[in-house]
Amino acid sequence: MCGNLVLLTLLIAQAFSGTVVCAAGNPAKGNPGNPQNCSEAMVFGGSPDWPDPLIVSAAQEKVEVPIIMYHLITKNQQNLGKYGITPKEMENDLIYLKDNGYETVLMRDLINYVRGEGELPEKPIVLTFDDGNSSDYVYLFPLLKKYGMKAVCSIVGKFTDENSKLDGRYGKPNLDWEQVKEMQREGFIEIQNHSYDMHGWNGSGKLKNESVEEYQARFYADLEKTQAKVREATGLAPTTFVYPLGVIGKGSLEVLKKLEIQASLSCWEGINIVTKGEPECLYAMRRAIRKGGQPVSDVLTGAYLRLKQEKANSA
Ligand SMILES: [Zn+2]
Repeated sequence: MCGNLVLLTLLIAQAFSGTVVCAAGNPAKGNPGNPQNCSEAMVFGGSPDWPDPLIVSAAQEKVEVPIIMYHLITKNQQNLGKYGITPKEMENDLIYLKDNGYETVLMRDLINYVRGEGELPEKPIVLTFDDGNSSDYVYLFPLLKKYGMKAVCSIVGKFTDENSKLDGRYGKPNLDWEQVKEMQREGFIEIQNHSYDMHGWNGSGKLKNESVEEYQARFYADLEKTQAKVREATGLAPTTFVYPLGVIGKGSLEVLKKLEIQASLSCWEGINIVTKGEPECLYAMRRAIRKGGQPVSDVLTGAYLRLKQEKANSA
């Protein structure tokens, strides 16, 4: 999961020396958001160093891009939790998006657009699935093929390694490397990096007693492992890092760039302004969280309302 408990948020806040920034906050504007609405933990060892995505000149070409954050798809009611959805809910989301003119794009499409090497459709949307649950293969993959849509699946390298040793292709909790390879090859799914082994209580954040340099070395070594394994399995290295638990360590951006990772996804809620010629706008991108029982239409309505309010506030 990408973090789901206020308690967890508080524990993380106590464990780190940085500032806690919650959902609905805009860290670039010095607004930490409302802790009461905090659905994900955001921890920094200092202030972030990317620009405010809402400040773009009128002459620049830009596109509003919602990114939806999904997790598990399951038929088992007991496993649904807060963020799990049923296969039927998933299918209904895809039907809604198609009927309402959205076109699913991948992270490489956003990267190409920013680099001036490609265009985006009129209503682009990115569907992201965190943690590499086997339901990505069992339920999501066939649905994407059925509707001709695309999604981004971000795996935790260690989970994939461990699941590759288990028997039973459909009975595993997480994806194995064969499934990862098959999904990437067919073109409906793009595999991204959700760390190798940083999906524990502190995510990929800096530890309190760790220097920035020590943190960067640890962070680099972990991410590089998943980069190499995905490249080896599929022929393509991930272009995007998804921060586990949404915990963003001070100095992490430098490491991502060193690894040639061109985008990162946070758990800040909101809609992104993707601007041609502005590669920094692809880091710490916001997402709209898809919870169980809350259809994607509601998720998008809430996210667009927030964007409208933010635009009004920054005008
Ligand atoms: Zn996660």
